[in-house]
Amino acid sequence: MAIRIGIPRALAYYSFYPQWKTFFEELGAEVVLSPLTNKHIVNEGIRNTVTDACIPIKVYHGHVASLADKVDYIFVPRIVGLDHDATLCPKFLGLPDMIKSSVKGIPLLLTPRFDVRDGRFAPVKAWMKVAKMLGAGYHQALRAYRKSIKVKQYYEDLLTSRMLPEEAMSLLDKWAASLKDEQKKLSDMKSSIASARASSAQTLESQNGNIRLAVVGYPYMIYDEFVNCGLLDTLKRLGTTILTPEMVPAKARQAQAKKQPKYLFWYYSNQVIRAVYYFFQENMVDGVIHLTAFACGPDAMVDKLLELDCQKHGRIPYLSLCLDEHTGRAGIITRLEAFTDMLVRKRGGKR
Ligand code: SF4
Repeated sequence: MAIRIGIPRALAYYSFYPQWKTFFEELGAEVVLSPLTNKHIVNEGIRNTVTDACIPIKVYHGHVASLADKVDYIFVPRIVGLDHDATLCPKFLGLPDMIKSSVKGIPLLLTPRFDVRDGRFAPVKAWMKVAKMLGAGYHQALRAYRKSIKVKQYYEDLLTSRMLPEEAMSLLDKWAASLKDEQKKLSDMKSSIASARASSAQTLESQNGNIRLAVVGYPYMIYDEFVNCGLLDTLKRLGTTILTPEMVPAKARQAQAKKQPKYLFWYYSNQVIRAVYYFFQENMVDGVIHLTAFACGPDAMVDKLLELDCQKHGRIPYLSLCLDEHTGRAGIITRLEAFTDMLVRKRGGKR
């Protein structure tokens, strides 16, 4: 029977799941993903976490607990550095330790440390160690790693073609299931990404009369529809065009770094600010919505910086929404409706 690896559907899942899944499946493991966030998962997270943790960390604990009796291992990477400018927030750095000490009755954890600052080959070495723990040979592990990196690239291409993570992931799954031949699979993915990009450009074109909103924040806040009370669905219902940081290509975000008076210490925070600078530069948005997590240290800084930047760039309207486990859907909907109504009026239009 294949080894079952559990992956919590939270935190860096939104950035890396297709890569992780591909790697483990290429090693012959079965990947078990925790369910969509729900009330039970949030409650389990609250029960298993220290009280002053932010909501994404509580939710992560709940996802780990939900996998406890279903898998042989749970994948809880220690992600330290994804670029040379910053590290991830301290809670990411201590995640495996927090989980080990807080969630009882869990199976063994796979906790590779990823830090690009340890050298060019550090990530591949980390993956090779994981493969060895799972009993895979060197060549099989290297093949799995190379394929996982290709899939990561396709996933990022789909996101920059303005797909949301769940849509992009299900498209990748469909491709993987429908094509047997490996080479054909990869070349088919490339051409499908090109057509997805063309059609999303057309969609934006056809929505040009709509209010265009940058919805920014950490991916685990923007794309977890339970945590953010269905924010993206509400904005779609209100007829807005939504842009998120993951829709900006990594190189274009990096090019904005020179506009930051000072880099922040935290990777995701820099990505949020650079994406907003890019939207301003390209004149792509009528307003900015920032999703912040209650008790998030980095967000205290990011939120103020974004507010000031919006003022500096022609007083672009700015809405900050702070979320925790008590946030109610009705309150979010009311604020989104008021914000979009204000933007419509500002343009001289009517609803
Ligand atoms: S960046 Fe903020 S929201 Fe994200 S894990 Fe750290 S403290 Fe929590």
